[in-house]
Amino acid sequence: MQEQFLQQVRRRRSFAIISHPDAGKTTLTEKLLLYGGAIRLAGSVKSRRAQKHAVSDWMEIEKQRGISVTSSVLQFDYNGYCINILDTPGHQDFSEDTYRTLMAADSAVMVIDCAKGVEEQTKKLFRVCKMRGIPIFTFVNKLDRAGKDPFELMEELESVLGIQSYPMNWPIGTDGNFKGVYNRIKSQIEVFNEGKHGQSIVESVIGDVKDEVFKDLLGENLHHQLMEEIELLDGAGDDFNLNKVLKGELTPVFFGSAMTNFGVRPFLESFLEMTTPPMARMSNRGEIDPESNNFTGFIFKIQANMNPAHRDRIAFIRICSGKFEKGMNVNHVRLNKAIKLAQPQQFLAQDRAVVEEAYPGDIIGVHDPGIFNIGDTLCQDNSKIQYEGIPVFAPEHFARVYAKDSMKRKQFIKGIEQISEEGAIQVYKRPFVGVEELIVGVVGVLQFEVLQYRLEKEYGVEIKMQTLPYRFIRWVEQDNFDYDRFSLTMDSLIVQDKEEKPVVLFENEWSIQKVEERNKSAIMRSISRKD
Ligand code: GDP
Repeated sequence: MQEQFLQQVRRRRSFAIISHPDAGKTTLTEKLLLYGGAIRLAGSVKSRRAQKHAVSDWMEIEKQRGISVTSSVLQFDYNGYCINILDTPGHQDFSEDTYRTLMAADSAVMVIDCAKGVEEQTKKLFRVCKMRGIPIFTFVNKLDRAGKDPFELMEELESVLGIQSYPMNWPIGTDGNFKGVYNRIKSQIEVFNEGKHGQSIVESVIGDVKDEVFKDLLGENLHHQLMEEIELLDGAGDDFNLNKVLKGELTPVFFGSAMTNFGVRPFLESFLEMTTPPMARMSNRGEIDPESNNFTGFIFKIQANMNPAHRDRIAFIRICSGKFEKGMNVNHVRLNKAIKLAQPQQFLAQDRAVVEEAYPGDIIGVHDPGIFNIGDTLCQDNSKIQYEGIPVFAPEHFARVYAKDSMKRKQFIKGIEQISEEGAIQVYKRPFVGVEELIVGVVGVLQFEVLQYRLEKEYGVEIKMQTLPYRFIRWVEQDNFDYDRFSLTMDSLIVQDKEEKPVVLFENEWSIQKVEERNKSAIMRSISRKD
């Protein structure tokens, strides 16, 4: 039994795919499923693609919300591994959801468009990975098209993101002439045959780089160029160091084209070999070993109204240790209360299924009757383990929000509270003013529209919204903090977060600096760590 449990833990690989919109995250996810045998023909994960469109589409999707669009994990087996791809929303306005999902992942795959390089959203998502110290693997995508020089891209990773990089493979033929990749570890060359527009698995010829066959396949010039580049790479770069990869200090880089499937399999196989199974996680009781028999997990995401017919909320649990079994009793550590996990569900590629058992690295969803908060820990025995909290990420847009009809104030407050518990918005109050004036902060503006829509549909409250000019937020930490004595600039505003911690909103970075200078003993943080 124990042997089987350990085997299940060790074969798990749970990761998230991150990218700036349009770099190819959806396409790569789809291709990984194709190679994993989870789907027959690529192109069937359409509903996920719909996720990233405008809010009107989001609402339309919401109306008929089937699980296919809100699936939370894509699980499949490949070469003996059990892979969990943690799903993240396509639209960047919902990236807060992605940040939290990264808290539940053991590693991340960063997709970069070879023509665009490191983009804005990539930088933000990268910072979250970096904060967690998880391994980050880079897939440079769209090599079938003209792009930046591969050497330049490597340079960009280092200069823009500040992470060392090591090309695991090297593209052969760029600018619309992508033929294959050279595997640096195996000194092997892999030349792909044209597939059926990337719908099915692509065939390839693999062999020693010096083999004459490749001179014929690639042509004298391309082969010669490759040999020169290999020499350059071997002479110039750092050595490969798996330890650094696992600490998130070095990113292995793969070149490929998700659309044509070129380079997808070599990437997947090499990635799976290098990335980690579930690792020990920090808690108030020190590190918790995933292979311990005590079931533990934490809630990283709450989603309301998965099924519009009955207004339910689903709390998603990342299992950190022990074996999960359907119907088991666990301790809800924050409430110090025993609860039964009766209707656990796993949200797989296309549908939801009741899970009988699950292991560290897996994600399960349980019905939430309003008892869960993001960051809550569940634990089988009475050890009262509490995992490190999920940080609150900095919103970038703010608005004052009122109920149009003051008679509906109660529902309004309830709706705002529930939606904020899901982490879809953050709510602030003015000190000394209280709930009479609420300020809502969001990471992406579409979240405002979703808030408006949901308050109307789910709580029957119409709202008025007045957008505010603030763009930055800082949590203030200071001994003996005093609202009256804290010195602000004209264009900044002090508010309180849900936990009544002082928070300052700013219009620009210049005023952050000013306020820092004027309040030297205060520490200003752009992320609020929950303890
Ligand atoms: P996401 O926003 O990161 O999920 O990006 P998608 O996977 O939806 O891809 C955005 C666009 O880029 C789509 O039109 C894809 O067909 C296209 N695309 C994705 N991968 C490739 C690729 O390898 N080569 C080319 N030429 N286009 C690609």
